[in-house]
Amino acid sequence: MDELSLNTPIEYLNGLGTEKAKLIKSHLNIYTCEDFLNYFPFRYIDKSKIYLVSQINNSSTIEIQLKGRIIDIKEKVLKKRKTLSAIFEDSSGKIELVWFKYTNWFMDSIPLNVEVLIFGKINKFNGLLTMAHPEVEKFSEVNFKNVALDPVYSNSLKIQKRGINQRFIKKIIKEILDKLKSKIFENFSEPIIKNFRLISRVEAYQEIHFPTNYINLQKAEYRIKFEEIFFFQLGLSLQKLYRKSTIPGTPFPKVGNYFNNFYTNHLPFPLTSAQKKVIKEIRNDLKKNVQMNRLLQGDVGSGKTIVALLCMLLAMDNNFQACMLAPTEILITQHYNSIVSLLKDFDITIELLTGSTTSAKRKQIFNDLESGKLNILLGTHAILEDKVKFKKLSLAIVDEQHRFGVEQRSKLWKKNTIPPHILVMTATPIPRTLAMSYYSDLDVSIIDELPQGRKPIKTFYKMDSDRLAVFGFVKEQIKIGRQVYFVYPLIEESEVLNYKDLMDGYESITRSFPMPEYQVSIVHGKMNKIDRDFEMNRFLNGETQIMVATTVIEVGVNVPNATVMVIESAEKFGLSQLHQLRGRVGRGFDQSYCILMIKSELSPEAQKRILTMCETNDGFKIAEADLEIRGPGNILGTQQSGNIEFKKINLLQDKDIVSLSKSCIDHLLLEDPKLQLIKNEPIKNFFIKNYKNKFQWSIIS
Ligand code: ADP
Ligand code: MG
Repeated sequence: MDELSLNTPIEYLNGLGTEKAKLIKSHLNIYTCEDFLNYFPFRYIDKSKIYLVSQINNSSTIEIQLKGRIIDIKEKVLKKRKTLSAIFEDSSGKIELVWFKYTNWFMDSIPLNVEVLIFGKINKFNGLLTMAHPEVEKFSEVNFKNVALDPVYSNSLKIQKRGINQRFIKKIIKEILDKLKSKIFENFSEPIIKNFRLISRVEAYQEIHFPTNYINLQKAEYRIKFEEIFFFQLGLSLQKLYRKSTIPGTPFPKVGNYFNNFYTNHLPFPLTSAQKKVIKEIRNDLKKNVQMNRLLQGDVGSGKTIVALLCMLLAMDNNFQACMLAPTEILITQHYNSIVSLLKDFDITIELLTGSTTSAKRKQIFNDLESGKLNILLGTHAILEDKVKFKKLSLAIVDEQHRFGVEQRSKLWKKNTIPPHILVMTATPIPRTLAMSYYSDLDVSIIDELPQGRKPIKTFYKMDSDRLAVFGFVKEQIKIGRQVYFVYPLIEESEVLNYKDLMDGYESITRSFPMPEYQVSIVHGKMNKIDRDFEMNRFLNGETQIMVATTVIEVGVNVPNATVMVIESAEKFGLSQLHQLRGRVGRGFDQSYCILMIKSELSPEAQKRILTMCETNDGFKIAEADLEIRGPGNILGTQQSGNIEFKKINLLQDKDIVSLSKSCIDHLLLEDPKLQLIKNEPIKNFFIKNYKNKFQWSIIS
């Protein structure tokens, strides 16, 4: 056979014919020698201890190792099925070994009456100790230097039956490692290896597959994790550098009359210092010749909308158009109403575009957008349609960006020849580790302060049996002039069920809160816009005291007089959704409450969510808990996490490595933004070969 390389397809490996190669490709997704090296064990078995049969504890479920002899072997027929059965004996006793699946070849290969090591899980079967499908090795052939930690690879039974078992995989990987050692090149620079105390790449591969001891295994894992997150973050950081150095932006040189007049005479309240700080950061971006791509994070109620408005005024001062997107019609309509009222003394034209905009109105909006007569457009996804063309759009704001994907953001880029500045706002905080990995191509501003006088929302959980008391509490709150939400979950599988749940709830609430003393609004996704607006407005104006709704009111809705949020079947909601819903109250000066109605039996995960909600109001803590419960993939959605899967690093458990690597990259790119220094050549070469096509841009060539 010719010399192997990392790219050699696996069918050229010794002992791997086309048939086995095909199975491995389709089941394990391994195509080349390199893929095999990157097929890391998912656990290791400690074979350093040898047990005696007499020491076996009946309830033991771990895999153990025994040393002795197989003294008898025969086929048995059990319920018409053949099984292979053997007797194993050591100095202290006997157990039975059983194989339910085997070949003649396998049967003949079992060593009889010689010293062997067997390894597997013990079961008790008809009062007899048995071990099913044990691994059997002749004692004389065991290489004790290497057995301390035995790798276990994930594998499917289907291919195991065809001979691709653990032993086979280990053999192949060992062969590849032996032959390709010299081709596993270092991909870090000397200083990085030294500063971060990394073992060499070859060593890491050797130890991750065949660890000589725990300490070396840990070093190998550290190195491989570091490398994995490093190159991913490097891609994002280079992308950001590329954007800043290559993609032009429209500078807003002027802070003019619109901004200044509003700031001095029309602000409805003094800004918090956190709001001032982020406005400064944004203004700084907008002065430059570079497109802004900024993420504005601020917990629910921190006051992001006014920041967005001030930014749009900066666009007006410089004679440009601006637009703002929100995920739901209710939310954007509310933004529209409040912005129109705040800007009523200004000669700025503002329109609203949603799915329910009439075609005559649309036509007018499209015309005015293209002629430049329209200054600010607010809307839902409808804004993203190709038909929507601006004369000179230079600022696009996306509210509640977690509801939008990267793809939608990139559609906004294309709405102007020079891409508009982009400000995405989110109340769903992104845990730091995720921000440092998946989002590191954005600049981040944080509003880390709530407007003065806000009291933390008190959160409780209650069972159905407490319902009367809950209703009593709600009545007290209404008596002192407050308003209340009752929210029902959306169950994705069945719209009919949702509707029924909601309507049943509505009926029982109107029974317990009868007219004319109480007025109840209802809002859900199936209502037409006119009815929905009508109901929303009644609640907003305080004509109704109770709002019964589905999660359509989840994001953004702002009724500061509402102080109680009752969430029905709270166990069915995700954490960030619960947090968003809770954010609908506590928006004024009064003490607010969130009541989570739950069933008595909850899954451990649901329990964790409910308890987290009761424990903290802090969006960042909630985001961390959410990450812990659901994992990063689920939080980001495929759109954002889909471009890379991590093999070894766990963004949750390996937070430290994530930050170390990020600071390493910041240093690296500060000194050598295009990776042109000789010492950084290994990094550059490896990145180009393995990562470049995974990212949209790159400034290195
Ligand atoms: P979010 O960040 O959740 O979008 P909003 O922008 O909707 O928050 O603001 C929440 C509420 O707080 C609104 O009623 C808004 O008018 C009010 N608000 C915002 N900033 C301040 C401030 N600096 N002082 C007092 N109230 C404020
Ligand atoms: Mg908001």
